[in-house]
Amino acid sequence: MKTLLILIMMLAAGIFLFGCAPKAKQNELEGFIKEHVEKIKPLQKERNLAAWDAATTGKAEDYKRASDLTLDIRRIYSNPQEFALLDEVRKSGKISNAILARQSDLLYNRYLENQIEPELLKQIVDLSSQIERTFSTYRGKIEGQEVTDNEIREILKTQTDSLKRKRAWLASKQVGAAVSEDIIRLAKLRNQAAHNLKFDNFHTLSLVVVEQDVKELDRIFDELYELTNGPFARLKADLNRILAAKYGVAVEDLMPWHYHDPFFQETPMVYDLDLDTYYQDRNIKELAEKFYAGINLPVESILARSDLYEREGKNPHAFCEDMDRQGDVRVLCNIKDNEYWMETILHELGHGVYFKYYNPQAPYLLREPAHIFTTEAIAMFFGRLSRNPAWMQQMLDLSDRQRSEIDKVSDKYAQLKQLIFARWAMVMYNFEKQLYANPDQDLNALWWRLVEKYQLVKMPQGRDEPDWAAKIHIPLYPCYYHNYLLGELLASQLHNHIVHNVLKLESDKNVSYIGQKKVGDFLRKKVFEVGTLYRWNKMIERATSESLTPKYFVAQFVK
Ligand SMILES: [Zn+2]
Repeated sequence: MKTLLILIMMLAAGIFLFGCAPKAKQNELEGFIKEHVEKIKPLQKERNLAAWDAATTGKAEDYKRASDLTLDIRRIYSNPQEFALLDEVRKSGKISNAILARQSDLLYNRYLENQIEPELLKQIVDLSSQIERTFSTYRGKIEGQEVTDNEIREILKTQTDSLKRKRAWLASKQVGAAVSEDIIRLAKLRNQAAHNLKFDNFHTLSLVVVEQDVKELDRIFDELYELTNGPFARLKADLNRILAAKYGVAVEDLMPWHYHDPFFQETPMVYDLDLDTYYQDRNIKELAEKFYAGINLPVESILARSDLYEREGKNPHAFCEDMDRQGDVRVLCNIKDNEYWMETILHELGHGVYFKYYNPQAPYLLREPAHIFTTEAIAMFFGRLSRNPAWMQQMLDLSDRQRSEIDKVSDKYAQLKQLIFARWAMVMYNFEKQLYANPDQDLNALWWRLVEKYQLVKMPQGRDEPDWAAKIHIPLYPCYYHNYLLGELLASQLHNHIVHNVLKLESDKNVSYIGQKKVGDFLRKKVFEVGTLYRWNKMIERATSESLTPKYFVAQFVK
């Protein structure tokens, strides 16, 4: 009898344990998220506004305010007790509400990347700032004379004397020797932080916290490598012939300094394509506004809050920022009437419409892009239009003759631009992966093995210098570069899907998207409104019926 009673009691307890405990866990998580959002939401808005003030005024006190607020936010995410709670909730497997579970996953990652012991974090931050300072103050030398980066770039764009080019290229690499040992130390400190969190190295950790996976990226990049090998070699051979003739050297004597920038990441300007003349005296802002209104993604409210033209003390670049995840979206530009700024405003407004058209009813933590590269993809998708002949003809009222002038070179130029960038990004991705896997290996040799393999650029004979260390992204924006390439791949995948499945066209010939409300409606519904409710690849599958693949990028740019 007594045993039976105990059994009944145990059963009751069991029912309690299995029936109500999940509810309790869920309530606990819900309470935590609510409290967290109340804390973080005003802080993030204040920080974004401070950063906006800093960028538009250039005032030191605004920069200070923005960086103090960034630290305050970081402090919240470094709280070890709150991290432990989220970890426990995750491991319990008792969150059946998908929206809550998603928010807890995202929060877990934010906390995870900030769980670094304060002393180690301080060493990392100090060393990074030191490297940053060296980069901003270091000047390479040509025959004993200091030169600026701009002077080096100018020489590489215009000089026809190979020896002068070589000297400029060598000068561009000198900063590498000044920072390479610090970068290796920094990589080891970052690895130490990752090891403490039970990751094999910092590269893996960096990918995991943004829901990326090395194997998945390797697969995508390997496929892209295979698909672009032949076409890139052909385009590169064409380019080599033109460059060799220009510099009066044999093709086999072409060296890294014969390309038009220090890393061969940009397209050498050898195919005449001056699109600026078509944009001269045009109202770039109005063109962008009119285009976005036509696809049912109006941007007036964004432009009204934006800061669009050059001014003393203002940040000279461009960006788009979501201030509060409830519609206060702003763009900073320095518009001039040329093609570069047409692309840039279309690009930044691409970020802008993504931020503006989140579902306002979604929880605060889900009102973000599915991934940093998915918002980049939308920006690239629209930015590409500034060189699209059909778009240009219609938006700028060009004659058929003008259109055919653009047609003649634009395809070739787009192919070169995309393939050169893709192969360069493969160097960056693979180098960073291997740098963190083993910072003690011969990195100088590794760099040139990758450059020769992916970019088909020859290592100068006997070269043994830290040329990799001259790329500022390696120390200061680590394990991020690959996202630019993923953005391009997704932009092409969306383009393909929209052309064939939304607009139901046979091919993308003459597609400009102008006036196509369906395009805006599709993006709004399938990409923007879902925010970060799904992991990036699931969002892409839901939108295009396929996970991220390089094949549409290849279809678009390999002809
Ligand atoms: Zn962007």
